[in-house]
Amino acid sequence: MARIKVKKPLVEMDGDEMTRVIWASIKEKLILPYLDIDLKYFDLGLKHRNETDDKVTLDAAKAVAEYGVGVKCATITPDNERMTEYNLKKMWPSPNAQIRGFLDGTVFRKPIIVKNIKPAVRAWKKPITVARHAYGDIYKAQEIVTAQPGKAELIFTASDGQTSKVTVADLKGPGVFMGMHNTIVSIQSFARACIQYALTEKIDIWFSAKDTISKKYDGKFKEIFAAEIAAAKTKLDAAGVNYRYFLIDDAVAQIMKNEGGMLWAMKNYDGDVLSDMIAAGFGSLGMMTSVLVSPDGKFEFEAAHGTVKRHYYKYLKGEETSTNSVASIFAWTGAIKKRGALDNTPDAVKFAEKLETAVISCIENGCVTKDLVPLMDAPPKKIYNTDEFIDEVASRL
Ligand code: NAP
Ligand code: MG
Repeated sequence: MARIKVKKPLVEMDGDEMTRVIWASIKEKLILPYLDIDLKYFDLGLKHRNETDDKVTLDAAKAVAEYGVGVKCATITPDNERMTEYNLKKMWPSPNAQIRGFLDGTVFRKPIIVKNIKPAVRAWKKPITVARHAYGDIYKAQEIVTAQPGKAELIFTASDGQTSKVTVADLKGPGVFMGMHNTIVSIQSFARACIQYALTEKIDIWFSAKDTISKKYDGKFKEIFAAEIAAAKTKLDAAGVNYRYFLIDDAVAQIMKNEGGMLWAMKNYDGDVLSDMIAAGFGSLGMMTSVLVSPDGKFEFEAAHGTVKRHYYKYLKGEETSTNSVASIFAWTGAIKKRGALDNTPDAVKFAEKLETAVISCIENGCVTKDLVPLMDAPPKKIYNTDEFIDEVASRL
């Protein structure tokens, strides 16, 4: 059979542990037999990051910026335990945070929906995609705990030497306080990435914050979103994309009654917390995809879950594993569809859609890995192991 030609290169970032094992199988059984594709390969496995003093991560990010589309396997973010396990020269930072920083990107998380797994929230019929602003707020804050009474003040010294000062609180006894910030550029980038994403997916945008209480801070977010939306109005109208601003509490109440199908953009903390609620509401981490979109339209696709360490240690001992490869497969199909759309090669897009259909039909016919069993309406006759599931997808494809 002639393989389908993918016109331009795709940046491939390999990773760690169980997802690395799955990655190789997906490539061998589901991608390379069908696609004639130029993969720019970067090994972001922790061992190789350590050998290259982590240069490989930056090289990969640069390649995504150059070629426009990348697909990434889950990677280990080192902690003290990993320092010893991998004999690391340094506690290298999270590759995801680095790539996100380099591309100035926003992360969008979207669940994969199948008929025989009902979301915990009855109203949900379509995927709810969450966009989390991944810069600033409490994640880059300074905090003080005081055992004594005193005055907490917020002081800003501008580059021209002018200062502004407000009293945060007159503490009559022990207390805690915090200073946090964000930048206009980062908020604008976030709004633009959301608009980019909504235009590609042709879905409405919700943005929620708490501007009734935080009139200046959250008020600024609301104002910037409104300005960016106004600037993109012609494109949004043409794509049929509507924009709504909600107070965060109103949005939370509305989402429980809505059938879904929108992009829900949130500030850093709201997005951190509520993306986990949405993920749990739709089922398994193994069914959640994630894409990083830069404000200038570069895309990096991945699974939302980590390297599934516990399964990897079973695999190393030669024990059977039943790891869900769906989100990793959808990272590939997402990247191939994007590549195809950018290069105007409908055959590549069609192939990726067929691969997605093969995956969905597997699950809907009861061929599933162990993580999905408790979520199903009717229990399956058999639980598929990691390889059997990928083989089943291959045979349906
Ligand atoms: P994890 O890999 O997401 O797995 C946590 C648990 O969730 C697993 O033990 C498993 O539960 C379940 N699970 C997740 N994905 C699954 C799948 N595809 N199929 C079946 N079950 C799945 O998180 P972790 O074990 O806490 O983290 C491992 C490593 O991943 C860490 O080093 C962390 O730094 C890294 N990480 C990377 C990324 C990324 O690159 N994007 C994201 C998150 C974490 P059971 O054990 O109950 O079966
Ligand atoms: Mg969270």
